[in-house]
Order: sequence, then C-alpha cells, then structure tokens
Amino acid sequence: MATTNTTKADNEPNDCLDIAVIGGGIGGAYTGWRLRDRGLSISVFEYSDRVGGRLFTAELPEAPGTYLEFGGMRFRTDHSILINTAIEIGLKIVPFQKSDGNQKLWYLRGTHLGKDDLRGSKTPFNLKANERKSPEALIRDIFTNNTNITSTKFPEEMYSLTTNDGVPVYKMSQLNFYSHYATMEAYGYLQACMAMGLVNQQQGALRGVKMANSPSSALHAIEGGMGRLPTTLMDIFRQRSKSHHLHLNHQLIRIEKSQTGGYNLRFRRTQTVDGVTTPLTTDDNEVTICARKVILAVPRNCLVHVDFPTFRNNPAIMNSINSVFDDPAGKIFLAYPYKWWKTGNPDTTNTDSDLPCRHTRDWFTGTNNVSIILASYHNGETTRYWRELSQFGTPIPGSLPGANAVTDVVKNRLETYLSLIYNVNQSDIPEAVGGGMMLWDRYPFEAGWHCFKPGFKEDEVAEIMMKPSPSDDVYVVSNSWAEGMLGVWSEGTLHAVDRVLSNYFSK
Ligand SMILES: Cc1cc2nc3c(=O)[nH]c(=O)nc-3n(C[C@H](O)[C@H](O)[C@H](O)COP(=O)(O)OP(=O)(O)OC[C@H]3O[C@@H](n4cnc5c(N)ncnc54)[C@H](O)[C@@H]3O)c2cc1C
Repeated sequence: MATTNTTKADNEPNDCLDIAVIGGGIGGAYTGWRLRDRGLSISVFEYSDRVGGRLFTAELPEAPGTYLEFGGMRFRTDHSILINTAIEIGLKIVPFQKSDGNQKLWYLRGTHLGKDDLRGSKTPFNLKANERKSPEALIRDIFTNNTNITSTKFPEEMYSLTTNDGVPVYKMSQLNFYSHYATMEAYGYLQACMAMGLVNQQQGALRGVKMANSPSSALHAIEGGMGRLPTTLMDIFRQRSKSHHLHLNHQLIRIEKSQTGGYNLRFRRTQTVDGVTTPLTTDDNEVTICARKVILAVPRNCLVHVDFPTFRNNPAIMNSINSVFDDPAGKIFLAYPYKWWKTGNPDTTNTDSDLPCRHTRDWFTGTNNVSIILASYHNGETTRYWRELSQFGTPIPGSLPGANAVTDVVKNRLETYLSLIYNVNQSDIPEAVGGGMMLWDRYPFEAGWHCFKPGFKEDEVAEIMMKPSPSDDVYVVSNSWAEGMLGVWSEGTLHAVDRVLSNYFSK
C-alpha cells in the first residue's frame, strides 16, 4: 500500500500506472470494480483515511444494531445501475423505512399541517384561490400558464421552453422566474414546503419543474448502510489483482504532462484523526506518481483545487466546471432512551419545517431499546448555521468524536425546535444518550451535492465533462454535472462512470 516519495516519472515509463483513479467515494470504487478484470495496473488515491466519500455509514455505540447514514441513505426503483451492482456484489436491498405519504407532518409559520392542510383552510400562507394547490401542482400551473410547456415537450425539449415573453426558461434563475410569474407568497409557500428542493434561489428555474414532473418511486436502502456499497466494491477491486492498490491519505494536488507520455501526479500525504484530515507535516510529505491515464472521481469543488494547467488555462473547460454550484448539506442524529417524538404523533414518520432543522425523521431503535431520531437534515445556508453553533459547548455524553461530535449547544437548540415540531414540552424530553453529526461544508466536501446555474445546457456540459480536454487522457466521473435529477443521487455518479468507460475504455 505504501508509496514512496521517489518520482516514478519521465525516466521510468515502465513503472507508470496504467490508470490512476482519484477519489475513494462510490465513483472511484465503482470505477476500480468495473475495471477489475482488465489486467491493468490501477491505483485508487483517497484524500482521507476512509473509503466511501459522501456515502458514510457510522455506528452509534450507545444504540447497538443501528447505524447512522451521514450522507446518502436511499435510492429509487429506477436507479438500475446501483440496484444491479448491489445485487451482483451480494448486498441486500431493503425498503427505505416508511414512505413519506400521509405520515408526513409540516410545521410551517408556527402551524402544524398535514398534507391536505398545506393548501386547505389551515394554511398559514396567504395564497390566492388559484394558488391553493399542492406544491407540485402549483409549480406545474405556474409553468403551464407562463411558458410554452406542453406535457409532450417536457423534458425532451426543455431548452426550447420559453416564457410567454419569449425568454428561454433555462437561462432564468428560480428567483428571477418565480418572483416574476408567481406571487412572493406563493414562492415562499413553495420554498417552505419543498424543504430540500427550491431553497437555493440562484439555481436554474428548470429545477422546480423537473422536480414537479419527476415520477414518484418506491425508495430502497442497503441493509447495513449505503457505505457498504463503496467499501465492498473497493474490497473486490483490491482482491482481484496484485496490481490493484488503494492509497489512503493521498491528496492529488497537481497534474503535469510527462514528456514521455502520461502524467506526473503530485500528491500531498495527509493524516486523519477522528474524521479530521490535515496535511502531514513532515519534510517529505509529497510524492509524485506516473500514470498513463487519470480518472478523476471527485466532485466539482474538489476538482477546482487540483492544479492542472490544461484545465486552468482553458476558459471553455473552466466554464463547464463552474456550470454548477456547491450546495452544502448536513445531518444531525440524536439518541434517547425511548421515542419521545412519538408521544403525541405516533403515526408521524418524518417532518419538514421552516426551522433550521428543516427535515426530521424517525430513525432506528437499537437492541437495547435506545432510539434514534434524524433531528436535522438540511442544506444551503442552514448548514452554516449549524457549523457556527457546533463551535460552542462540549460534546454530549455518548457523542461520536471529532468531526462527528454533537455539542450540548447543538443538542439544546435542536430540542427547542423538535419540541415545537412534535408538540412536546422541552422539559419532558428525556436526556439524550448519544449523537452524531456530519456537515458537508468543508474540504473535501464543500457540498452535499451540486446544482446547475442558469444558462447551461446540462446534456452538453455532461458530455464535455467526461473528457474535458480532447487531447488528454484525463477523465472526470462525477454526478456534479449529471443531467436531470441524477445530480443529487449516487446513481448519477455510476451513470457517469459507465459513460466514460464505455466511450473511452472499451476493451
Ligand atoms: C447529506 C447527503 C444526503 C444524500 N442523500 C443521498 C441519497 O439518499 N441517495 C443517493 O443516491 N445519494 C445521496 N447523496 C449524494 C451521494 O452521497 C453522492 O452523490 C455520492 O456519494 C457521490 O459519490 P462520488 O464518488 O461521486 O463523490 P464523493 O462521495 O464526494 O467521493 C469523492 C472522494 O474523493 C476524495 N477526494 C477529493 N479530492 C481529492 C483529491 N484531491 N485527492 C484524493 N482524493 C480526493 C474525497 O475525499 C472523497 O472520498 C447525498 C449526499 C449527502 C451529502
């Protein structure tokens, strides 16, 4: 596993790796697994001490038999690459908890609402009569009344959609579109109800209509946690050949073209303590490795930290890389001796609110009856709010350490919100016995996922990003630039890997 700081480069072409894969998330692990029988020398380099990236399943010692999903936790029936791969590597697919349906509760503007109440007489939104619709129906209405959308035209011809004034919709931000064609109250209603969907006003306006038109699907999970997908793929890749390696704690910082063909890759070695990764502070903390081909299995925010002059000096490539923005996200779990949040609402499985905890969800109960609640699942600016609070206080008893610690300040603030949402007096909430959190807002995870800015044609960008420089053997596999709704799902990364391998790595 060890790498040395010798430069295996220009003068030793035979030592060159056939392929260097950068990133040990599901994208890097799936790439290695798909190339496992090609007889190639392949090394995967990962910045941290952990395989999985944004698929991160952790255990809470206080609640044996349970696990926390800090990142991805579920997938849809039409995520066929993920499902087929999971089955092929022997993982068990199970239903994702209880579906949302009528067991969902909204707490908006201080009012408890069921699904039908959102648009009914209890709604705290001052909606006009023709705006009293479910969020999905209202979005479809706004588009139908103000653009040339037809059911046959979308999504195939989404770039020919124009407003009634002739403005191409894909060039508009959500803020621009909705503030022009909906009342601000209706826009506020959509933002509040679709907690994870419309919050970022700068993203392209098509996102809303894509969400509203996205067919519903049953949701599934992996028994034992989604983190088992990348770790199992990586294990199989490594076991298949002696020339397959995984190098943890290696951060790619620079790519240089080698004079004898291939690339010299400069890595900085890192160290990880309790989930916090920092550069190794020794004199020889950098290594250079030669590779004939490079597959970058990293998202947008990581790519921009890699110094590759070919990308940096090409405005068209940088324009594609920057076509999406980073949307930070986070999850906070708390554990209690019993499910106090079920006291007044035994049927409620999950909630959305306009409070900073945004989405909450009944989680698992351990073999010792300790129960867990996903106390906050948020994105956008709210992530910065929790980051700020997490600096104060001390870890609660039973908290995970380091990067995943929950402080008493964070816990107390969450309990204030949870008591409102679940209608339980804060003084009746029992003492928490554990907790864990992960905020995806710092390098290498400055984002939970990426969303397109207005003005870009997603299919064209996705095509460019597979092989940004036609004359280079440097490829990108990431869902950052995935078309449609795939950008927020692991399936988008697997789709990107399949496209790159079938286009450029056919046997
Ligand atoms: C809170 C949250 C909830 C989510 N929910 C779902 C869900 O329910 N279902 C779903 O399908 N998806 C979900 N996702 C999205 C999903 O987790 C990601 O899309 C997917 O894991 C991305 O995989 P990836 O391999 O492309 O990137 P990543 O997982 O980000 O992996 C990239 C890896 O590259 C490493 N790296 C970065 N830079 C370098 C470098 N310079 N050198 C070496 N290594 C480097 C990183 O450390 C990381 O391990 C969620 C994500 C978050 C954050």
